[in-house]
Amino acid sequence: MSVALFTLGGTIAMAGHGPGRDGGTVVARLSGADLTAAVPRLADVGVPLEVQDIEAVPSARLTFARILDLVRRASDAVRDGAHGIVVTQGTDTLEETAFLADLLWPHDEPFVMTGAMRNPTLAGPDGPANLLAAAHVAAAPQARGLGALVVMNDEIHAARWVRKAHSASTGAFVSPNAGPIGSVYEGRVGVHGGVPRRAPVEVDAAALAGVRVGFHTVVLDDDPSMMNAEGCDGFVVAGFGVGHVPPAFAPILGDLTQRMPVVLASRTGAGPVLRGTYGAVGSETDLQRRGLINAGMLDPYKARVLLRVMLAAGAGRDGVAAAFAERG
Ligand code: ASP
Repeated sequence: MSVALFTLGGTIAMAGHGPGRDGGTVVARLSGADLTAAVPRLADVGVPLEVQDIEAVPSARLTFARILDLVRRASDAVRDGAHGIVVTQGTDTLEETAFLADLLWPHDEPFVMTGAMRNPTLAGPDGPANLLAAAHVAAAPQARGLGALVVMNDEIHAARWVRKAHSASTGAFVSPNAGPIGSVYEGRVGVHGGVPRRAPVEVDAAALAGVRVGFHTVVLDDDPSMMNAEGCDGFVVAGFGVGHVPPAFAPILGDLTQRMPVVLASRTGAGPVLRGTYGAVGSETDLQRRGLINAGMLDPYKARVLLRVMLAAGAGRDGVAAAFAERG
């Protein structure tokens, strides 16, 4: 029995350049061996961690293609006998990469992602504790069949719900609609929830590379000329509240649905886009009547991930609408 550890960089893997460079800033350069060496009592997990260093980058540099490649490598590790996967990466894009991995992951073995908010040069870095907890979860039978998980700050979050909701706190990761689905204390993994698993989506990198999804968040007194869907195959609009936009956007978005799937999400970060409460021009009811697809409880960033993956998988408007009805 083993756990496969894949490293992608991020704050958890950061260290200084050396004296005199950039006023003491840090860059991602630690290896998996460095990370595991910094974890006290890693042996308590009871299984070896087989390390594969992929790259050491800030997570703003990650791509859909990289996550596709990661899922392929992790699948190979499972086929070679790994009982779980741990991935370390930067926290900035973790809510998106975890959801993408969750859509693709075809195995029961836990796919556990983690990172750190305080880099190893600071007092009280959280990386070692997060990595230890993630390893415990990856090795835990009770985490099987839950898809991709994010383990931070002793909490287990479903990729479906998790958000980074603070720029600096070690408690940055939350699941506003559902709460964490479990916890890790003294190495014991407790799971008290989960998200129903759906069939994995199959996409290839070339198809994903060819799909462009536009994105616009509406703001007070917004100007539709600021919204650009040129060259896009699909579009996500992050509306106010339960799914509203300024009236001038409504006909433009309606016209856009004639050319591509347009998904309506809420910019609030929690709660649903409603289906039939408000009736004004630019309301959720009006926009759905004009052909926009309701994102349900999926936040705009995850909606963008799902839309791009479904388009790359060959879905048309109906297929996209069905995916949001099922997963939104
Ligand atoms: N900027 C860093 C990154 O996402 C932040 C982190 O890792 O926490 O790579």
